[in-house]
This record gives sequence, C-alpha cells and structure tokens, in this order.
Amino acid sequence: MTDCLFCKIVRGEIPAKVVYEDDELLAFNDIRPHAPVHFLLIPKRHIESLLTVNEADQALLGKMLATAPSIAKQLGLQAGFKMGVNTGAAGGQEVFHLHLHVLGTPQE
Ligand code: 5GP
Ligand code: ZN
Repeated sequence: MTDCLFCKIVRGEIPAKVVYEDDELLAFNDIRPHAPVHFLLIPKRHIESLLTVNEADQALLGKMLATAPSIAKQLGLQAGFKMGVNTGAAGGQEVFHLHLHVLGTPQE
C-alpha cells in the first residue's frame, strides 16, 4: 500500500513519535491529540479496517488488544484509558489503515 499514510510511517517515510515497536506492531502519538496521552497502535501489515479483517488476522488483532495496555501503562495510564477503533467512513474512519486509538490522562 504505497499511498497509505500509516504504511509510510511504518516505512519511516513520514516521521512520527514512536512509543512502541515490535516485528508486527507500531505505536505512535496522534498528531492531533484529544487527551494528554493519545497514541495509535497499528499493525505494520496493511489492514484497511475492522470491516475487512478475516480469520487470518485474529492472532494479530488479539496481540493489538493485549499490547495496548502495556504501552498505556508505560505512558502513565496505569489507572485506565479509553480505546476506540473508528471503522469505515460512516464510523468516522479517516485513515484506512487499521488503528486503535488509546487515550487518557496520567494520574498522580
Ligand atoms: P481515524 O478518524 O481514521 O480513526 O483517525 C485517524 C487519526 O490519525 C486522527 O486522530 C489523526 O489526528 C491521526 N493522524 C492523521 N495524520 C497523521 C499523521 O501524519 N501522523 C500522526 N501521528 N497522526 C496522524
Ligand atoms: Zn497502510
């Protein structure tokens, strides 16, 4: 997906403040944060949206859900956070590379 914004971030062609990376996942701060901590967690492999996932994506999706809390905790969100996945144009999705929004305010 050469034209995909988040694929370009994965390839390092567009800079991002990376907060987590492994062989399959990348997390980086949202450029227009809606909370003191707001990062996006994406699969490095291009998946368009939750509307297009299939059985082969199940393990990766599980890994995303399981990884998000540990990143959130490292960023000060031990007390909790909100998570969302805008899905499809009607669901408010603007970037068509699957991403979890994780938002929160670090507690004292
Ligand atoms: P969506 O509505 O697709 O769920 O949200 C896309 C998110 O990507 C938005 O919150 C927007 O601020 C963020 N975003 C868009 N372009 C960039 C970018 O170039 N860099 C980063 N870090 N975030 C972006
Ligand atoms: Zn992509």
